[in-house]
Amino acid sequence: MINFTVGPVQSPDYVCEIGGEQVPYFRTDEFSQIVFESERIMKSFVNATDDSKVVFLTGSGTAAMEATVINTLTPDDKAIVVNGGSFGQRFVDLCKWHSIPYDELKLEAGYGITSDQLAQYSGKGYTTFLVNMHETSTGVLYDMEMISKFCKEEGLFLIVDGISSFLADFVDMQKFGIGVFLTGSQKALACAPGVSVVVLSTKALDRVSKTKSCSMYLDFSDALKNAERGQTPFTPAVGVIRQIHKRLKTIEEAGGVSSEMNRMHELAVDFRKRIEESGLPFELFSKSPSNAVTSLYSPQISAYEVFLRLKDEYGIWVCPNGGAFKDIVFRVGHIGSLTIEDNKLLVKSMVDLINKMEK
Ligand SMILES: *Cc1c(COP(=O)(O)O)cnc(C)c1O
Repeated sequence: MINFTVGPVQSPDYVCEIGGEQVPYFRTDEFSQIVFESERIMKSFVNATDDSKVVFLTGSGTAAMEATVINTLTPDDKAIVVNGGSFGQRFVDLCKWHSIPYDELKLEAGYGITSDQLAQYSGKGYTTFLVNMHETSTGVLYDMEMISKFCKEEGLFLIVDGISSFLADFVDMQKFGIGVFLTGSQKALACAPGVSVVVLSTKALDRVSKTKSCSMYLDFSDALKNAERGQTPFTPAVGVIRQIHKRLKTIEEAGGVSSEMNRMHELAVDFRKRIEESGLPFELFSKSPSNAVTSLYSPQISAYEVFLRLKDEYGIWVCPNGGAFKDIVFRVGHIGSLTIEDNKLLVKSMVDLINKMEK
């Protein structure tokens, strides 16, 4: 199978090899060094300040989203939540679940945020802004410059779910004034699922120190205390953390985050060009696509049938959509170990399939 989904994605061989090894005991200096080095590289890749801290949580990306909400926000906050799809909805659900007062900036699917929309929230006593930098469900990358400027002007604490943006699109915690940046192991990190990574700015650390988490397992204060010695409070997904470490180090040695981002950008541009040239009856669904994903739609063709038949007849996974978009939109990921040759094969298979479907 060739995997063009948005996670889990194809891992490089050096990551898979770690998956095949015995999982080592971890209360050791050797494991602590792995955690310290991963923290250092994570911080440099998102341009966090030196005094920022990194927490490695065992749990998928949603665990990091929930942990961030319960460790940095309280019912005294008033949040703006960008809701452009299922991941925005998840932040809405988390605020509701944990009684954080919020208002939703609800977007039409496929569209980014406009400055007029933001302006409606100006000067109304908000304290916090929650956004999925790239709304993976629709493939929309938000304008972080604009969001960042708004948050700075309004003095808002900015929480960024960058789960599908890390390594794929430009992230700079200092430039954007990001309070918390979070990501997960199974997107562009291209490791096995199971670990999420949270980078906490000094503003976030200050909030954590004043907030009592309602969850023992997801308590950042405890995680931060353990992180001082390169450890976690409980047994982490040791194997996945070793994969993340290897992956971060390899990217660093190969030229760093920008070279990885450029690689993905080239794959995304190549794929979009091939789709256009193929004459296939698909259009880009997102008005501002990320490097991580291309979302495609066609009024005539069932997107879900394309997903099923590519899987069953061609050995290729693309990513179906759920809910109202199940038959309308499907997504092609550019994250993980993919090549231009893979793009060629996918487009060729799509042409063949659509010919069959139209007969
Ligand atoms: C994948 C993803 C998540 C988290 O999903 P999990 O299944 O919990 O790992 C959250 N936000 C975004 C933007 C994502 O792409």
